[in-house]
Parts: sequence; structure tokens; C-alpha cells
Amino acid sequence: MRILFVFLLSFCFASVADARPLKVVVSFSILADMTHEIADGYAHITSLVGPDGDAHVYEPTPSDVRAIADADIVIVNGLGFEGWLDRLVQAAGYKGRVVVASEGITPLMAGGAPDPHAWQNIRNGQRYVSNIAAALIKADPEHAALYKENAHRYMQQLVNLDCWVRVQIATIPKEKRSAITSHDALRYFANAYGINFIAPLGLSTSGDVSASTVASLIDQIRAKHVRAVFMENMSDPRLIQQLVTDGGAVIGGTLYSDALSPAGGPADSYISMFYHNVSMMVMTMVKN
Ligand code: ZN
Repeated sequence: MRILFVFLLSFCFASVADARPLKVVVSFSILADMTHEIADGYAHITSLVGPDGDAHVYEPTPSDVRAIADADIVIVNGLGFEGWLDRLVQAAGYKGRVVVASEGITPLMAGGAPDPHAWQNIRNGQRYVSNIAAALIKADPEHAALYKENAHRYMQQLVNLDCWVRVQIATIPKEKRSAITSHDALRYFANAYGINFIAPLGLSTSGDVSASTVASLIDQIRAKHVRAVFMENMSDPRLIQQLVTDGGAVIGGTLYSDALSPAGGPADSYISMFYHNVSMMVMTMVKN
């Protein structure tokens, strides 16, 4: 009897251990949202860089090391976005899989380096979703059917979103489809949907902007009659404010480029980020 009890008890513990959610660490908020859509409660997701955070200049914390050491999978953007990741993985002694969500995408290049902001084209976002779903299925085959179904449903929403963006952009007169953002996070968006963005900071937020760069931007704003200027949720707004004061442009509000807003904010999911950004672009560019 006692032997049977011990056997049943150990069986019980084994099932509890198997049923624990997958521990997934992602590098930033957009990947956290996509993974959440696919895993739907079957994974415990930790995002290293949180909402409104700037992954370009992120400095990992000791709790990040612990999260990675404890992870079943780590999901990153890749394309040089998380320059701090390799050292973090090493410090944590993590030997598991590092999944690159952008794998298979043909990156836009800038000065010999890939532009990391590939998620700003929704068709690339779909590739992220299929890469993340494949990684979850591999790590947790027991829930494969659920992950597949969620990914399929989410993918359909992204197809519809891509279509919606194209319809919205088409309402902006062609000569008004130009804007300024603080760093060059929207080249994939520009290429996919036909908006011309000018950005003083280049691909990363880490550099400084010289006085001559600002002067030449102000010239461009005047010469090309660019009226719409947007701030970004994760970068310093002062530069943009100077362009508005000296260049005569109009601030069109805040675009979410490299990070989502906190929950309940205007861009707290990958999908609502596009709804927010595109509505803002249409409103500002049509009006000014
Ligand atoms: Zn960026």
C-alpha cells in the first residue's frame, strides 16, 4: 500500500512538473506581445527591455541574468538590434536556444550593416510570428496544436492589418507623404507603404547629432516643404522640438517605433501600434 502511495505521489509530482508553463525570455516588448498572442497563457514571458524602453542603448541588470539562466528559450530580434545580448547570455551561462525572430527576412542595409527595425513592415512581422511559433512548438510539442492555431489566427489579423495600412496611406496625397522622425526606425515601413521619412539620428539612438546635421535638416524641411514631424516614445524629444521651432514644421504627436506603450496605452500591442502610428500619420499629413 505504502509503495503504491509513493508511486502515485511521484507520478503526481512528475505531471505537475511537466505542466509548468514554458519560460520564455524575449528581448523587447514587441516580441513579448507576439509571443503572448501565440502562447496564450502556456508560456511565462519575460521581456528584458520593457514598454517605452530603448533596446539600442539598453544596459542589462542582474535580474536579466537570472531570467536568462532560468529560461527554456530566449527570443531576440537579431540584425544587430541587441548588441548587449551575447555578453548577457554568456554571463548567465545559458546553453539553450536563442531564437532569432527575424530569421529568413532580407534586411535593408545601411552603411554595410543590416537595419534591425524589420518589424515595421507587417509582412516581416508575419515571418516573426512563424519563427516564434516554430520555436514554441519545438520547445513544447505537447501544445503544438494550440500554438499552430493561435499563430494561424494571429497571422490572419496581420494580413488584414497590412491591407488596412495600405488603404489608409492611399488617402494621403502623394506630395504630402513625407515626415521627420528622430531616429531611422521606419525605413521598412517607408519601403513597404510608401512614406518618405527623414531622421537626424540614423539607425541607432546612441549617437549625437551635430549642429550641421540639424542645420541641413532644417534646410530639407523648408526645401521639401515637410510639415509633419513625429516624436518617438523611446527617444529624447528635444531635437525634434528644435526642428519644429526653427524649421516651421508641425508636431504630429508620438510614433511608437522600437517599443510598445505600457498596457492600456495607445500602442500596447503590435497591432495597436500600427493603428496608432498610421492614424497619426494620416491625420497630420493630410491636414498640413
Ligand atoms: Zn531603433
